[in-house]
Amino acid sequence: MEQNKLYTLPPLPYKYTDLQPYISEQQLTLHHDKHHLAYVNGANNLLQKLDKARKDNTEIDIKSALKELSFHIGGHLLHSLFWSNLAPAGRGGGQPGGVLADYINREFTSFERFRKEFTQAAVSVEGSGWAALSFCKQTNRPLIMQIEKHNVNVYPAFAILLVVDVWEHAYYLDYKNDRGKFIDAFWNIVNWEEVDKRLKKII
Ligand code: MN
Repeated sequence: MEQNKLYTLPPLPYKYTDLQPYISEQQLTLHHDKHHLAYVNGANNLLQKLDKARKDNTEIDIKSALKELSFHIGGHLLHSLFWSNLAPAGRGGGQPGGVLADYINREFTSFERFRKEFTQAAVSVEGSGWAALSFCKQTNRPLIMQIEKHNVNVYPAFAILLVVDVWEHAYYLDYKNDRGKFIDAFWNIVNWEEVDKRLKKII
């Protein structure tokens, strides 16, 4: 049996300046080094708290511990997916190709229609959350979903292909409260190759 581990903050797969002008160095640094790290630390603290309570055989409020744990793990996993479905400015954006394009066209009739629906999903998330393109193996369909905070409304068996973070901490320095403007910028740095790769892994 392999040794158990704690979560670690993955380094960005590009430089902090690479997403400019769509996401500034300051915004990306804060988001990755402070916010994402806080979820990693939060999840690890909870795991260690649970370890300790089990070892000492003391009581712990399981309901609240599990809720907090899933919040932090959700935050960590979603941020990790988000960083790697973005590409440096000039190398991302445009339209997907390959089998991903086929699935998007079949489900949404066109890329433009998909982009419009995904944008509406992202802009209309209530409060803090995410928009995601996921894939359901039972129906063989891609599905757009909204994620509230980090962990509500997720279909557990659906693989996530593409996510965008619409917490204010993701865009406030660059776009103030204009989430729509951030989503417009996001489309310029989507790493479609990575999204296509995620799809191919599961179909
Ligand atoms: Mn975030």
